Amino acid sequence: MDDLRDLYQEVILDHGKNPRNFGFPEKHNCEADGYNPLCGDQLTLKVQFEDDVVQKLGFEGQGCAISTAAASTMTEWAKGKSRSEIDEMFKLFHEAVTGKRDPDPDELGKLAVFAGVAEYPMRVKCATLAWHTLEAALNGTGEATTE
Ligand code: ZN
Repeated sequence: MDDLRDLYQEVILDHGKNPRNFGFPEKHNCEADGYNPLCGDQLTLKVQFEDDVVQKLGFEGQGCAISTAAASTMTEWAKGKSRSEIDEMFKLFHEAVTGKRDPDPDELGKLAVFAGVAEYPMRVKCATLAWHTLEAALNGTGEATTE
């Protein structure tokens, strides 16, 4: 876990400061707003979902470094993925950040570093907000809250 811990710092700093996919894609057909009242993290996600694949996606919003880094890495990962791949990864990611399973970097890639938040229950919602918001966008519910 020590390697993961170092990588955690690195990924949170890097993606928290320079989020990828910040800004909305020109064309989009799904969107959702996410809100984490515990921390005050807010984001809006817009997605172009076609042929069962996320073609493009981007987000805007304000939040702590963890929520921003999570949105950045989530959007980076989700591009080109199918609905079932997204559901499966969200499940693995959620289990890793809540400490229900050991993070497997082979399965999770860079997302494995977020398992570091399992020690800080308040932070779990920061890490999962973007994922809940992606699900809400694809489900057409339009809103996600971590409560
Ligand atoms: Zn937060």
